[in-house]
Amino acid sequence: MADRYLHFTGTAPGRFLTRGLGLPQPAALRRWSLGTPSLDGPLLHLTAGKPVIGDELRTLLGTTGLTVTDRAERPAGILLDATDVTSAAGLADVHAALHPVVRSLAPGGRIVVLGTPPSPDDHHQAAAQQALEGFVRSLGKEIGKGSTAQLLRIAPGAVASAESTLRFLFSPRSAYISGQVIELTAAVPDPVADWAAPLYGRTALVTGAARGIGASVASVLARDGAQVICLDVPQAEDDLIRTADRLGATALPLDITAPDAAERIAAAAPGGLDVLVHNAGITRDRRLANMPADRWASVIEVNLDSVLRTTDALLRAGTVNRGGRIVATASIAGIAGNNGQTNYAASKAGIIGLVRSLAPRAAADHGVTVNAVAPGFIETKMTAAVPLLIREAGRRMNSLAQGGLPVDVAETTAWFAQPASSAVNGQVLRVCGQSLLGA
Ligand code: NAD
Repeated sequence: MADRYLHFTGTAPGRFLTRGLGLPQPAALRRWSLGTPSLDGPLLHLTAGKPVIGDELRTLLGTTGLTVTDRAERPAGILLDATDVTSAAGLADVHAALHPVVRSLAPGGRIVVLGTPPSPDDHHQAAAQQALEGFVRSLGKEIGKGSTAQLLRIAPGAVASAESTLRFLFSPRSAYISGQVIELTAAVPDPVADWAAPLYGRTALVTGAARGIGASVASVLARDGAQVICLDVPQAEDDLIRTADRLGATALPLDITAPDAAERIAAAAPGGLDVLVHNAGITRDRRLANMPADRWASVIEVNLDSVLRTTDALLRAGTVNRGGRIVATASIAGIAGNNGQTNYAASKAGIIGLVRSLAPRAAADHGVTVNAVAPGFIETKMTAAVPLLIREAGRRMNSLAQGGLPVDVAETTAWFAQPASSAVNGQVLRVCGQSLLGA
């Protein structure tokens, strides 16, 4: 379903009219393509307080492929190192660094503030570092022009773990993510031979891959070099085979709720899985008072219970290889709740619980990370079925004033999936253009 309003505001009369009426002004987002693989302009490196990790950080920023500089007229990205901000007084340095340059950020630009986790033992440090969260979330709402702002927290001494994340955030791949907080562990990243094909030699399985977000995830993982197995229900076999054939992938027609689903997945991946993406999901909306037990049960079964069951079975059987990546699909409905979606929101909140609890144990016991994407309004058949007014509200009620595309969720999944993302664990990342819901 095309976003006609976005198209209209991209024309001169559309811009004139909507600006005059004070209506939202969504900017066309620049996403990754072979022709535009990176941001268009230099990366401005600023520091608030003392540059404690300056040299190491500078080297790492160099790997983004952007020109890193201390001064730029029109930066495409700004990194503010605020790891040394440990007091309320230190917040003045954040203002002093960004206030003079924020207006010069190029359209579609990226701001990343680098912080450290708030300390449980030092409430002054905790206050200052937590302040950065409110700061970044507000900045995301202010900057406009398709630009984004995030807070990236790194464990002290763990700068090296941030490479895949900095590359992702300072690239067109993160176009629909804004106002988010990402916290990295100190895990040492696996080496990457070729950043153009970081998943080369890896086997990935994507559930619900016949169409929508799942088909896009399969496509982006294949682009990044993975050998992909596309799974979907037997009723969707024609679409599934079409998607798989297009990607040189394997089709696995299988209902993920089948009792033997894990065994059949293991049989389809004799060398084990390096990436497991739980994307399949359904909605059966009704208000609780009108919801029969079967609508409740089917949503919990597909969206949550099958994810728990197959994850447990595949980890237990060793089908998920060491260094593996599990990515589950939550939703902002699981964070904010939604009228008519008690079943769906419960299932998606359950995914968040699963990820946060399992992530540290999966890393310790199996060398596997577990993360979730939490999409907001994404343009798919699922959201095309939403009534017009609610659909329009869903599209506009975020800082970027537009819906996301399946590829936005897919790019985030591919970043989680990278061998170099070992430090990205237990994260639930909203891909929602900084939706007002549950923010
Ligand atoms: P979609 O309905 O277009 O695609 C879902 C796919 O999952 C379909 O191909 C379907 O056949 C498959 N599927 C359903 N039940 C299955 C089962 N039992 N076994 C195997 N496959 C099954 O949906 P989408 O919009 O692409 O959503 C993908 C995921 O993203 C879902 O988990 C959804 O809840 C989540 N999500 C979507 C949005 C959005 O705005 N579209 C927002 C938040 C979360």
